Amino acid sequence: MAGWDLWEVPRRLVAPVFTVELTALALLVFGVLTTVPESPDVRTAVLICVLGVVHTEIARDVERMRRRITGEELHVDLGSVWFFMAAVLLPPGYAAAVTVLVHSHIWYRAGFRRAPLYRQVFNSATMMISAFAASSLMSYVFAQQRIGLFDSRALLVLCFGMLAFLTINSALVAGAIAVSTPHARLSQMVGVWSENLLEIATLSLGALVAMAYLTNPWLALFCLPPLLVLHRAVLVRQLEEAANLDGKTGLLNAAAWHVQAERALHRTKPRDGPPGVLVLDLDHFKAVNDTHGHLAGDHVLTAVADVLRDEVRERDLVGRFGGEEFVVMLAGLGGRGSSELESVAERIRRRVADLRVEIPTPDGPLTVRGLSVSVGCAVMPDGGAELRDLLEVADRALYAAKGAGRNAVRVGTAASSRPTLLPVNVSTNPAPPIEPSGLRSNAGD
Ligand code: GH3
Ligand code: MG
Ligand code: MG
Repeated sequence: MAGWDLWEVPRRLVAPVFTVELTALALLVFGVLTTVPESPDVRTAVLICVLGVVHTEIARDVERMRRRITGEELHVDLGSVWFFMAAVLLPPGYAAAVTVLVHSHIWYRAGFRRAPLYRQVFNSATMMISAFAASSLMSYVFAQQRIGLFDSRALLVLCFGMLAFLTINSALVAGAIAVSTPHARLSQMVGVWSENLLEIATLSLGALVAMAYLTNPWLALFCLPPLLVLHRAVLVRQLEEAANLDGKTGLLNAAAWHVQAERALHRTKPRDGPPGVLVLDLDHFKAVNDTHGHLAGDHVLTAVADVLRDEVRERDLVGRFGGEEFVVMLAGLGGRGSSELESVAERIRRRVADLRVEIPTPDGPLTVRGLSVSVGCAVMPDGGAELRDLLEVADRALYAAKGAGRNAVRVGTAASSRPTLLPVNVSTNPAPPIEPSGLRSNAGD
């Protein structure tokens, strides 16, 4: 037990994780012990387990690749088909038992083994609680209203069941993320819309298989081919997304940013206001690595990426150009153009200056602060008429900010950045040698 990964998670997370797991276990034991075993229920439970196992075995490679891409972060489990089918057809205790069996098999055969076990157990527990609750709710309403699954009003009951499953599962996962990651974004906690849509599709399929099974148990097999196609389609989407993202920060990578920025520029209409570009470079970042190591540097990059995402609108494009350089395109700046862009840049500069990045280390948490960023801005039309011009002008403005002592924002114009005024593509900037005096850290802060 002493070697469990669970002890490495923030201490505030341990009690909620245990509470959820013990609740799931209590519901499972209570549910199974209080259910009078009836052979149709046992037969159905066994059959759902068999279907779940067959599905996992056939889709194993696809599922493994999915998990490798997402690293288990908010991974929508297509196993929910079987969990929800169980919730529709079985008493709550049996639904929970089927869920834990199928879920464990998925993890054992297709799981991301490097992911800590406590996460798997927690995910199993949230699924079990969701299946238990959905099953309880649906059987209660069916009994109260004296309606059967083939009644027209059953649709409403199934919808309630799905809602209960989805809400409870999302709330428990979101709660754990909120406790473990202070200032987590909403999309980090509850997942993006496409993920939730996938979960709804999976639960709908679960409801359909349950109905098919009641008509003729063999019909349940027809659900396997569409499920496998869905599985592959999801993998393709995830691969596409992964190819566009920078692995370290989750921002767009340079190539994807260029493509999307060009597209955004062409879509922008005059009434949207002028588009603008920010090019940002962390100051003395090498000193962060030299002082605290590359791993700490990576944490800082992620934290800065979060600041950028936070400070711009959802539709603005934030990318990592490489190293410690970032780029943002704000399409449609409104009437005030360059002053608006400058104020966004200034806001980002201040946020980075105030940033305290907490990094877990074997010797306790380390806090890195005293960071700063230099920002170059360019707005259309003063900064040029094409994306390439805007980038060039913003890049020169960035060097001007570095030259002015760093931790500064400069707005460039095409006229002010002719090569005779400031050399293009200079690889060393004119600032004095690195003096990482502003870079402070304190262990256990
Ligand atoms: P300046 O203020 O002039 O920009 O100084 P700087 O130290 O930030 O710039 P320099 O170009 O000298 O150093 C950039 C450093 O960024 C060097 C490189 O090791 C580091 N770096 C680049 N990519 C990564 C990364 O992915 N992770 C980490 N930890 N460091 C990186
Ligand atoms: Mg740089
Ligand atoms: Mg730098």
